Amino acid sequence: MPLVGLGTWMSEKGKVAEAVKTAISAGYRHIDGAYCYLNEDEVGEGIHAMIDQGIVRREELFIVSKLWCTFHQKSMVKGACQKTLRDLKLDYLDLYLMHFPTGFQPGEEIFPLGEDGLVIADDSNFLDTWEAMEKLVDAGLVKAIGISNFNKDQIESILNKPGLKYKPANHQIECHPYLTQEKLINYCHSKGISVTAYSPLGSPTRPWAEPGEPSLLEEPKIKAIADKHHKSTAQVLIRFQIQRNVNVIPKSVTPSRIKENFKVFDFELSDEDMKVILSFNRNWRGFSLEWGIKHKDFPLHTEY
Ligand code: NDP
Repeated sequence: MPLVGLGTWMSEKGKVAEAVKTAISAGYRHIDGAYCYLNEDEVGEGIHAMIDQGIVRREELFIVSKLWCTFHQKSMVKGACQKTLRDLKLDYLDLYLMHFPTGFQPGEEIFPLGEDGLVIADDSNFLDTWEAMEKLVDAGLVKAIGISNFNKDQIESILNKPGLKYKPANHQIECHPYLTQEKLINYCHSKGISVTAYSPLGSPTRPWAEPGEPSLLEEPKIKAIADKHHKSTAQVLIRFQIQRNVNVIPKSVTPSRIKENFKVFDFELSDEDMKVILSFNRNWRGFSLEWGIKHKDFPLHTEY
């Protein structure tokens, strides 16, 4: 799994195909997508343009997608994966993640909400959903399966599931200096599960960001580390994850930033730099998943 990938959440249609092309031309080989980003058809266009031009071969790429929560019923998992493959125009995914442990009422709505503003759960169980995902590997639709936004107990329940055929290959979680996730990363690594950091720049443009919230890209001490290495703050935030052996998927649709975010293999943060960056941890989440607080499988009630 290439350590640095291109994130595509909120990458608008009309821009995301170009972003994927710019990324692949710049050397990215890992693209992170999801059904619920509603742009996989255009992500696929970008990928195929690069394959057709001979810039890259399919087998050199590492394409990730995610099973959305309205498809957790066992009978729906294969169809959801096939829809993603059709949109991307690919025969297989390199990695397919269960986007959240929480199953939602099936239907057209991405977030089916009740009158209380909270998501409407279905009666699925993520262990059953996992079993259906295992079958995707056997059917050759995906090379590997993983999870996203799970807590340690939930991961453990998969690992301890009677009859488990494949353990999660990867866990994708929110991770940046305000949420360093040391315990969860150590736990995953101890179980042979690789970790991917989402929102590595602090997701500054997520729609629910409040004015006055802390901004990683503007932290003077991180900026000072960047200046010392003649790099940008974003590059330091990305390099920070690489040096922890954590995959990292910064999103951008801006060509200069896409290229900048990949130029992270020609410098090294010192132990002291890493300590300073880790000291920003305040367990602050850009994604507190308020829609799911009453869901039986809400992942954020536990310490980690
Ligand atoms: P990021 O932390 O990657 O931040 C993206 C924002 O930073 C965009 O507004 C982008 O702007 C800007 N940006 C990118 N590069 C730079 C730079 N060099 N300098 C300054 N600003 C920059 O946030 P995301 O929340 O998008 O997380 C990354 C990816 O992780 C997602 O796109 C998605 O693929 C994945 N993800 C997964 C989740 C999950 O539940 N599994 C949840 C959230 C994200 P612009 O595009 O305008 O250049």
